[in-house]
Amino acid sequence: MITFKLKLLFLNSEMKKNKFISISEAMNQGSGEVSIRGWVYRERKSNKFAFIVVRDSSDIIQCVFSKADLPEKVWEDAKMLSIESSLKLTGDIKKEPRAPSGYELLVKDLEVVQFAEPFPITKDFSPEFLLDKRHLWIRSRKLTSVFKIKHTVIGAIHKFFRDKGYYEFPPPIFQPMMCEGGSTLFQVKYFNDITYLSQSWQLYAEAMIFALEKVYDVSPTFRAEKSKTSRHLSEFWMAEMEAAWMDLDEVVQAGKDEVKFIVQEVIKNNKNELEILKRDISQLRPAAEKEYPTITYTKALKILEEKENMKVHWGKDLRTIEEERLMEHFDTPVAIIEYPKEVMAFYKMEKKLRPGIKKTDAPGPVALCFDMLAPSGYGEIIGGSQRDTDINELIKYLKKENEDPKKYDWYLDLRRYGSVPHSGYGLGVERIVAWICGLDNIKDAIAFPRTMLRKSP
Ligand code: ATP
Ligand code: MG
Repeated sequence: MITFKLKLLFLNSEMKKNKFISISEAMNQGSGEVSIRGWVYRERKSNKFAFIVVRDSSDIIQCVFSKADLPEKVWEDAKMLSIESSLKLTGDIKKEPRAPSGYELLVKDLEVVQFAEPFPITKDFSPEFLLDKRHLWIRSRKLTSVFKIKHTVIGAIHKFFRDKGYYEFPPPIFQPMMCEGGSTLFQVKYFNDITYLSQSWQLYAEAMIFALEKVYDVSPTFRAEKSKTSRHLSEFWMAEMEAAWMDLDEVVQAGKDEVKFIVQEVIKNNKNELEILKRDISQLRPAAEKEYPTITYTKALKILEEKENMKVHWGKDLRTIEEERLMEHFDTPVAIIEYPKEVMAFYKMEKKLRPGIKKTDAPGPVALCFDMLAPSGYGEIIGGSQRDTDINELIKYLKKENEDPKKYDWYLDLRRYGSVPHSGYGLGVERIVAWICGLDNIKDAIAFPRTMLRKSP
């Protein structure tokens, strides 16, 4: 007994001296003694052995406890380890093709940091239960992989714009007016008054281009979406850009270049995560390698009619089902330009035929705008346009949306003092993550989703 205790003391002091490394670093080292720390991911025990799969943020590894080779206290603790117990381990690592991640740790010492209570999530729970337990479910390998990919996506967005000389402009989140239609505004109490949560940074970005010319952001965005779809959140992150002197063709190209760069970065940096998510990389490659087509809305209707036998009345926005059927004919994202002006937001400029402007194939007035649709039924990932610079048109369309132009006076000033052509777009971060990860529902593209029916945890 005394020798056991001495041995344990010795090992504990040894462990304190050891530098902890991550599981993936330990597997890279591949042999010799290592110390790791993490949480119990899976456990299987017999009279003589315990097989504990441990996870940390980097990976998982099977850890083997042998009763015959361990001090009694270590063995007794190992026997009591439950799912999600936190621990520190020292042992010898070696290759083991039969283990889940191809390596095994033969444990020499264990320090339990906390014995976890019985973990409420075991197997095969309903999506709603998993959303109730979201604060625990974010530890799952699936969601951990999604968050790592999202990290790459957001990093790629910053890199893309910064490398092109854009300035990051964080917008105000409390905003006194609407940008994308009054029906999805979240009203909040503001001292003795009311205000709204941001539906878009756009109107403020349009002010900022006169100072910085090319700006971008990645910001929280709020829309009271009353429809329950697998593509809408009420709180999401939008990555937007706005640039002075830019026309529709140029802004569409910027959107294509950005999305292509994001997909390239994920394929380069997240092979492991895509594999864990069982996402077939060959389905993503076209978006990283090929040119993305641009078609007009009018042409899209033609494709739907001729190839899908779907008749859409010219002048109506495309519905989800129509977007899905259209995209069955493409393996990359597609930019759809020139939607009917009447169904577009007030700030999207109408295409007026002037010398040097390409004729339109549309039977009615169209806007200089575009949506980018993702392949495989993931729908719209970008919405953008050239902005209207005509103050009278802006006032006319604001009134049509029952908005008081006086509330927009500061915005209209931007058309009074040195107005220039300019364009921009917004990319839905969770939409692009959902597509790249191949998720069934956008809710899994954000850690703590908010929808009409869910605002906690
Ligand atoms: P949709 O028609 O799908 O509702 P939208 O036309 O309202 O989209 P925009 O106003 O153009 O979208 O917003 C720009 C981008 O923000 C969209 O292309 C999409 O990627 C993303 N987005 C918009 N609404 C949501 C939402 N409720 N949840 C998640 N992402 C969204
Ligand atoms: Mg919408």
